[in-house]
Amino acid sequence: MEFLRYRIDPFGRWMMREELVERVAAAGVVGAGGAGFPTHVKVNASVETVIVNGAECEPLLYKDKELLRLESDRLLEAVRLVKEAMGASRGVVAFKEKKANLEAVRIYREKTKEYSGIECFLLGDYYPAGDEVLLVYDVTGKVPPFGGLPLDVGAMNSNVETFLWIGDAYEGKPVTEKWLTMAGEVRKPVTIKVPVGTPFKDCLAAAGGATCTDFGILSGGIMMATVVGLDDVVTKTTGGYVLLPKDHFAYQRKTQERPIYDKIGKSCCDQCMYCTEFCPRYLVGHPIEPHRVMRSLGLSGPGKDIETQWAQACIHCGVCGLFACPELLSPHEISWDARAHLAEKGFRPEKTPAKAHPMYEFRKIPLKRLTARLALQEYDVPAHFEPIEVKPERVILKMKQHAGAAAVPVVGAGDSVTVGTVVGRIPEGALGANVHASIDGIVESADERAVIIRRN
Ligand code: SF4
Ligand code: SF4
Repeated sequence: MEFLRYRIDPFGRWMMREELVERVAAAGVVGAGGAGFPTHVKVNASVETVIVNGAECEPLLYKDKELLRLESDRLLEAVRLVKEAMGASRGVVAFKEKKANLEAVRIYREKTKEYSGIECFLLGDYYPAGDEVLLVYDVTGKVPPFGGLPLDVGAMNSNVETFLWIGDAYEGKPVTEKWLTMAGEVRKPVTIKVPVGTPFKDCLAAAGGATCTDFGILSGGIMMATVVGLDDVVTKTTGGYVLLPKDHFAYQRKTQERPIYDKIGKSCCDQCMYCTEFCPRYLVGHPIEPHRVMRSLGLSGPGKDIETQWAQACIHCGVCGLFACPELLSPHEISWDARAHLAEKGFRPEKTPAKAHPMYEFRKIPLKRLTARLALQEYDVPAHFEPIEVKPERVILKMKQHAGAAAVPVVGAGDSVTVGTVVGRIPEGALGANVHASIDGIVESADERAVIIRRN
């Protein structure tokens, strides 16, 4: 099937898939939706369906909705490019049919008529519609196997922003900017575009500052967010910052420490199984049962090991603990810890076919209910894009802001760089991504962790 790699590009020129793969690798494109998987590996395959993941189901985030609305022409050209390069017969722009996307629904219904084999696919407003296994199942009717990839069922999916980066890469432009949403306790909830490596404080200034003094910061939304400090910097996977008062219910849940949730879980879990019954990966037929992982807390020896294995398919989506559990326990954290423990012990999942549960369609969690459960209604307001110029004095470019090996710095202190200069390269033969200067300036320092550039 070697001929599949040879296609005509959107401009009528002959191209090879290798050409796209090389350009995407050179440009440092990674999954912008959070995982940071190097995209040149993803596009180097043949599939039937390519899917733009515009679901954006984290409460309060807006950047994908804004990209869908404002960058439709570039996005559709990128879909056509990837579809052709991967030999796909179907290109899908998937996003939610909700008030915030009304304009996007109109735009894509109209514009996809001009693109052969490309359609828009409307999802319900539920969480986590953007999980790649659920999305691929919803769009294709096939469940990617546990331990496998969407590729195993003939699909490739990536975030909206990643597709735009692929289009840019094909035109020779590396990844140097990031769209993100500022939400929660900020004066002006807003979506902005900033240089990669921008410090959090510059993003906060663009949103008019904080509206409370004792706030905590969640990077990437709420459900799958990580708690970060004031010194955080924007990476290629930063989807947004949500500021919450430190005594807010959701922030308290996100920051509970392991000895506490282990202790409470051990004594309070009544094995009601709600966590399992609502687990999205359980509902697509993957081998995961968080109530059994909870049971492992009270066991030792072989029994504990057996029950712990029911965490192997956990993606840390948070549904079990932050929505389903009536006791407000933390099966999401306990399953995630257990999965990490299995990985440390060298456990490697075997690829196993999966079949969706008959209740799959009926246990989707409406985002409105999730937002209410997390007491976030007061922050649930539009955060539209504003072309605010964010010009940080210095950027900190992490050498590892993607899955795989860290990039190796190829500049040193005192070097002069301009936007797009390669400052970190993928190590020879490794999975990884290049890193580029995002401002013009002088390299202040460079080591295996980061390259710091001070603006000229
Ligand atoms: S939902 Fe909560 S109480 Fe019920 S089994 Fe799961 S962790 Fe235990
Ligand atoms: S966090 Fe909970 S609901 Fe989500 S995949 Fe893991 S066990 Fe399932």
